[in-house]
Amino acid sequence: MDAATAPDTRNSLPGTGPEDGLDAARETLRELFGFSDFRGRQAEVVSRVLKGASTLAVMPTGAGKSLTYQLPAAMLEGTCVVISPLIALMHDQLRSARANGIRAATLTSADSDWRETMDAYRAGQLDLLYVAPERASQPAFCDLLTAAPIALFAIDEAHCVSEWGHDFRPDYRQLRPLMDRFDDVPRLALTATADEATRADILTQLGIPEGGLIVAGFDRPNIRYTVRHRDNPVRQLTQLMADNPGPGIVYAPTRKKVEDIAAKLAAATGRDVLPYHAGLDPQVRADHQARFVASEDMVMVATIAFGMGIDKPDVRFVAHASVPKSIEAYYQETGRAGRDGDPAQAVMLWAAGDFATARQRLGELPDDRRAGDAKRLDALAMLVETPECRRALLLRHFGEDPPAKCGNCDNCLDAPGVIDATQVSRKLLSAAYRTGQSFGFGHLQKVLTGSSDERIEQRGHDRLSVFGIVAGEEAALLRPVARALQARGALVATEHGGLALGGDAKAILKGEMDVTIVQPPKRAPRSGRRERTPNPVGDPLFDALRELRRELALEGQVPPYVIFHDAVLRAMASERPATLDALATINGVGAKKLEAYGERFLDCIRRH
Ligand code: ADP
Ligand code: ZN
Repeated sequence: MDAATAPDTRNSLPGTGPEDGLDAARETLRELFGFSDFRGRQAEVVSRVLKGASTLAVMPTGAGKSLTYQLPAAMLEGTCVVISPLIALMHDQLRSARANGIRAATLTSADSDWRETMDAYRAGQLDLLYVAPERASQPAFCDLLTAAPIALFAIDEAHCVSEWGHDFRPDYRQLRPLMDRFDDVPRLALTATADEATRADILTQLGIPEGGLIVAGFDRPNIRYTVRHRDNPVRQLTQLMADNPGPGIVYAPTRKKVEDIAAKLAAATGRDVLPYHAGLDPQVRADHQARFVASEDMVMVATIAFGMGIDKPDVRFVAHASVPKSIEAYYQETGRAGRDGDPAQAVMLWAAGDFATARQRLGELPDDRRAGDAKRLDALAMLVETPECRRALLLRHFGEDPPAKCGNCDNCLDAPGVIDATQVSRKLLSAAYRTGQSFGFGHLQKVLTGSSDERIEQRGHDRLSVFGIVAGEEAALLRPVARALQARGALVATEHGGLALGGDAKAILKGEMDVTIVQPPKRAPRSGRRERTPNPVGDPLFDALRELRRELALEGQVPPYVIFHDAVLRAMASERPATLDALATINGVGAKKLEAYGERFLDCIRRH
């Protein structure tokens, strides 16, 4: 930003306020970002940073982590050096920071303006300088840093420093030696995912004192969790898309499935649906990603490789076309929905086969990893099978103590019936046992319901005590019970497609353990509940504001959300501000955006 438009709060000193010493920071928050106040635990983090205290902030996606260093960066003397693992992530941040009038630059292999950036740094003209850890650990970078004052080291995605975390990046280990050379510069580490072991490790690896840990709650109240059996994935996903006209992500387990689902959804809905996976040409992949980021209605079908480098705040749904790897992974992936705080959906479609495959893989793991992964799978099975609040289960998994009901998950909205399936379970397990644990569900079903065929007679299975012991309503339960037993590992698929006993099977057979299952819906509910979008439908002013935002986005070559979020446009449509001053009072309209776009939006409001 140029000096003329720099708000004069830039260099005002913090710590002048009577209450939490954040008056100057709030002033800058309003001025630069246009936000009326801090959210969640942002104030604590910012306060520590301004005091020069090193901090590890664990905050869920969408909590507003970037603001906790961008704001101090704009206020403090010197540059904030941001370590970030991905170029796409850096460029995303760069765009948003610049749109708010913060002086930011990146030093990556994708940039051609290195000289300008380095000159600007040396001249003390940068608030933010983004680099990847590989670059940060090079001697040349350290030399550059000595040329001008550093305000702060911000380490984004800080779990990458820990081997316990799921994205270990050895280069993050080189950060501590670098930062130790600038010992008086505070450090701010940020992550959305870190269990206790990982947190402790991050503190040690980055040299942050224990007292510097701030952990915000994990809850993402605007995300609605739904878990459904996968009956007809294309139909189920088509329905989800019909209910959610905004951008969405569908995760699928393999490249082939990604391609297949993308093609079918595109054909079924006529919407822009693109695939994303590691097998695509890098150019094509980058193009698909760029189109998704800029789009207001595109759906990306992707392997889990997609999403980490993307801060798109207006993703309206994240669907899993099969079970994710773990609850941690599920939480991180679904966390990509609804960062802007508007309602969003997380929908998981599962089938018994997903668990069968995952349990088969367990067998191939080295001993030291098998137990941990088995536990992870059990936790997922619980999430899938529970008749209770999904959110409560998720939050308990992360060590929180949430209310028993959230009111915003499928089970809270539509409490499912539960059935005592202990008897049927015992019959099914015992049929599997007596037929030698090598037959699939179809065969067991025939034996139990007493429908003989040649194979059954040949094997003498029609003479077993379990032959024909299931009838009527119980017969209808066999399939859902088989699913539930497979999810929890009491029935395990063998290599040849048979079902063998595992896990709790013995305890269930001996009558030591009951089995309850969620009542299978008579039919899959057509659309679940239609997601209420907070956007006004059929309001000509709101539509015109969106249209204008699209124009400005094209002109400025940025995604529409960088101009304003939907919530800002909604406020404009309902408050109809007539002056720049009135427009400035809307949450999310900062000084720079007011100057850049204010008149155009006022004009649009006047004309509608
Ligand atoms: P995270 O990095 O924690 O996932 P972001 O930094 O991307 O979250 O912020 C998520 C969204 O929340 C952004 O669009 C940001 O503009 C918005 N936001 C951040 N802080 C505030 C605040 N104090 N008031 C209103 N919106 C905020
Ligand atoms: Zn709930």
